[in-house]
Amino acid sequence: MKTKYLLGLFLLLIIQCSYSQADDSILYNYRLKISEDNIRVVEVEAEMTIQEPYLEMNRWGIPPEIEKGWAKFVDVKSILDDTGKPINYTWNNVLQRWDLKTSKNSKIKIKYHVRLEHDNYNWDAAGGIDGRPTVWNEDTLFWVTKALFIYCYGDDSPKKARISFDVPKNWKISTAWTKVADKEFVAENIDVLDNNLLVIGNQVEKIIKVDNMSIFLVTPKSFAYQMDLLNTTLKEILPIYQDVFSELPNTNYLICVSENDIEDGEAYKNSFHQMFKNKNLKYRKIVWANTFAHEMFHYWTGLIYNKDFASNYWFSEGFTDYYSSLALIRSNIVSEQDYLKKLAFQFSRFHSSQRLMRNRVSLVKAGEEKINNWHLIYGGGATMAFILDVEIRSRTNGVKTLDDFMKKLYFDFGKNNKPFDINDQIHVLNYLTNSDFNPIFKKYIHGTDSILEMIFSTCEKAGIIVAQYQSEFYLTPKEDLEKKNIYNAIIGN
Ligand SMILES: [Zn+2]
Repeated sequence: MKTKYLLGLFLLLIIQCSYSQADDSILYNYRLKISEDNIRVVEVEAEMTIQEPYLEMNRWGIPPEIEKGWAKFVDVKSILDDTGKPINYTWNNVLQRWDLKTSKNSKIKIKYHVRLEHDNYNWDAAGGIDGRPTVWNEDTLFWVTKALFIYCYGDDSPKKARISFDVPKNWKISTAWTKVADKEFVAENIDVLDNNLLVIGNQVEKIIKVDNMSIFLVTPKSFAYQMDLLNTTLKEILPIYQDVFSELPNTNYLICVSENDIEDGEAYKNSFHQMFKNKNLKYRKIVWANTFAHEMFHYWTGLIYNKDFASNYWFSEGFTDYYSSLALIRSNIVSEQDYLKKLAFQFSRFHSSQRLMRNRVSLVKAGEEKINNWHLIYGGGATMAFILDVEIRSRTNGVKTLDDFMKKLYFDFGKNNKPFDINDQIHVLNYLTNSDFNPIFKKYIHGTDSILEMIFSTCEKAGIIVAQYQSEFYLTPKEDLEKKNIYNAIIGN
């Protein structure tokens, strides 16, 4: 009896400890207020413990010519210590942050306003207007969360944040953060907090559950009639990715889709935004469904990350594009003819970039100038994904595939939040195939050898006939009545 009682008390203590621990782990508390009569201003009140005596915002996703970055649109009203005394602060233009006259690990309270005026600015240098906060249909706010949060990132330890909203009663909050109460959410760390999308207002939201994944599909009211098409497409694509990685993650994910004169997409930690030209969608699937599948695949290529971001674009963008078009052919969203055209475009992008560059750069180096080297990075990366896929299959007699490579990177690195480097990729390939992939990396990924002969020999191995003239590539599958060649295995025939 006594033992039981003690055990009970012990358990109670454990529960209380873990409860208070969970509560203590929240270092940032934000309350966001938006009024119906002035929807372009967000009034923020925040309490936080800052490891270092400064406050900052995200540095990415904003055109470099906008002085002060995201802070340009922020008016700090007050910063107080935990006794309510004002803390002096100054904007540090060199380090792009607010320096505070306070000590390390201070508890502070800050009030600030964020003005939604970003849509008065040209966003091309930051990747386009799909990543720019704006207002949909005059009653719905589309926010990139980088614009909203001030914090001190401090060391690499994960820091949780709680975000609550004071908005008109009938407004909806669409987010990938974990909901803990009505209009109250928790973000696991700063990256989840400030590298995501947030839609507030009168949007249309559909919740889709596939395996472990909960997806919030969100559109402005004016585009809601396309919801069924998007829902169907998503449900066709996700099982393909589930096959590649052997599971879908236990996570929330937010997909925002809007209408525009241009088509583009931008992915964040657990969310992406895609803009559609709302014309002949049925005949242009190879373009919009590919972008849709591409941005979705970035969930994984974002999770499997290399600390040296720029040198990894050939993988993070190229492999993403390879898998998005594979998802479309494996799920029969597009015809085989369209798939082959797309693959031929990737070959052409790689080969032409190599041919036309005065000072040829490698795929690894190309990322240093992502916008200028777009064709080389995307086309080169996708071509290398195809080459590696065929190599793995041919060296293992079809026992292993590029899917196994992706799966291993996902389980060994992505899920453990451990960055990889290019040698880890070679190591995984060597391990899977019991062979040496160093020469291929040396020639075409670190090096600048012409890819043309490699495209011919790889297609030959896969069972594709190539007709090529200058930048033109035409691909024809060899007759394979039993559909047993590598090409047929890749597209899932
Ligand atoms: Zn991308």
